[in-house]
Amino acid sequence: MIIVWGTKGITKTLESGEFKCPICYVNGQYEYKEIRKYFTFFWIPIFSYGKHIDFVECQECKTPLNPEFFKKLNPETNLEKQ
Ligand SMILES: [Zn+2]
Repeated sequence: MIIVWGTKGITKTLESGEFKCPICYVNGQYEYKEIRKYFTFFWIPIFSYGKHIDFVECQECKTPLNPEFFKKLNPETNLEKQ
């Protein structure tokens, strides 16, 4: 029997909303995302490990933005890290 262990990065959208992108200058949608690394067993994620990466992605130009930078530009939005 072959036992399959592995790792996988899973991207989860924590929040979304509207903003004016500082890169493409379009009033569009943003998505606040988080990537977690998981250990997998037969391709099924078992538990997460390591540091989680979070970023805000513009849905127009797909540029990932630093959440701190995003908060400075959009102080009314409150990104909640989960
Ligand atoms: Zn953009």
